[in-house]
Amino acid sequence: MESSALAFVVGILIFVALAIQQWSARKKRAQFMEKVAARTWALEKNNVTRLEEQLSELESRDPGFDRTEFLEFALQAFSRIRNSFSTREFEGIHRYVSDSVLRRLTAKAVVDEFLERRYAGTFQVTSHIIYMVDRDDDLEMLHVHFRLTERGTYVSNELDHETAIRAGRTSSKANTLSEFWSFARRGDATTKAMTRKGVCPNCGAPLELAATLACTHCEAILNSGTHDWVLFKISRDMQPQRTPRKPIEGLSELKHRDRALNRQVLEDKASLVFWKWIESRVMGEPNRFARYCTPEAFEKEKARGTETTRHLTRAAIVSLDLARVDLDSQRERSWFRLRWKYWTEDGGWQLRSNMLLLERKAGQTTNPSRGMATERCHQCAAPQSDRDAIFCDYCDTLLSEDWSFVGLFQPSEFSGSSRIPTASPA
Ligand SMILES: [Zn+2]
Ligand SMILES: [Zn+2]
Repeated sequence: MESSALAFVVGILIFVALAIQQWSARKKRAQFMEKVAARTWALEKNNVTRLEEQLSELESRDPGFDRTEFLEFALQAFSRIRNSFSTREFEGIHRYVSDSVLRRLTAKAVVDEFLERRYAGTFQVTSHIIYMVDRDDDLEMLHVHFRLTERGTYVSNELDHETAIRAGRTSSKANTLSEFWSFARRGDATTKAMTRKGVCPNCGAPLELAATLACTHCEAILNSGTHDWVLFKISRDMQPQRTPRKPIEGLSELKHRDRALNRQVLEDKASLVFWKWIESRVMGEPNRFARYCTPEAFEKEKARGTETTRHLTRAAIVSLDLARVDLDSQRERSWFRLRWKYWTEDGGWQLRSNMLLLERKAGQTTNPSRGMATERCHQCAAPQSDRDAIFCDYCDTLLSEDWSFVGLFQPSEFSGSSRIPTASPA
């Protein structure tokens, strides 16, 4: 009798302790979310006057631009692109996104397929505002801040879409997210009345829907950013940074050699290469990467064999910025400061900081019609099939002669000299 009473009291105590623990965890989380919301709001408030000035400036330069219409377009792009996370159908979103954003999505889908899982989720946008207007020498950029709630989870690959979505909706708790979506177009582009009404923004010819990559009439590449806005970056929680006032060493010299070259476009290419690297490492298939790296780097990747790198199955870029350009008579090299992370088996993010190096043969020039469509052939701007061939499907140019992966280096190996370090730690 006495022992059962004791067990009862202990049981009650354990129950009370657990309840208190849960309550305090929930309270802590609510406080944290409040803090995030307050901080974001403060940032937006500080921005308001400057933002208003810049938007008026944009409207006077481009009288066809309408901020409400733009936000509608951004929301539509957001919904379509986010839906593709679950449906894994990317045809309909080609025209809205740069090739690196598309590669990020498709690489993720390939990795999930490999792991026999799929993401199932639903979301609801609670607010979206234009957060920042920015310009560099070539491009105009609009950063949009989205707040949303999301419910999602990974489910078995065998479930059909409807069942998967239902599982996603019911099995997980809602997350509140804050994301910055960055759109760009060429600095001299203007809004045409017909834009986004299913016609080519360049010549007005009707576009065939679905897998529309280029106008069949005038051959304008729809996701180049030449004629219309294209999404080139998605950042979670990280606010977009303004184009640095301080010039990047070597960049103006490189632009002197290659006038159509642009910093954002170069960063887009670097991120495209990074996602392709992740894809080939996870799958243990170096051939997938052949098109994107120098012959020496490819030999190194091949030497690793077909071992799959499981820890990279969930990876994300935190930030990627052009840091310096080195030129000599033989080669042109671009260094990028890359912060990225991957999800470890212990259930936490592992942060990595590296210098990503790309290079190309000196004397190459950027095809100006390609713009943000950085997966296309650097010579003829033709789209490439997914079958990892290293020569262009159309003009037979060796694709790895474009900006190609040399390696990921430790920041300490990136010194003042333009010498290429020999060790590749990654
Ligand atoms: Zn056209
Ligand atoms: Zn070509």
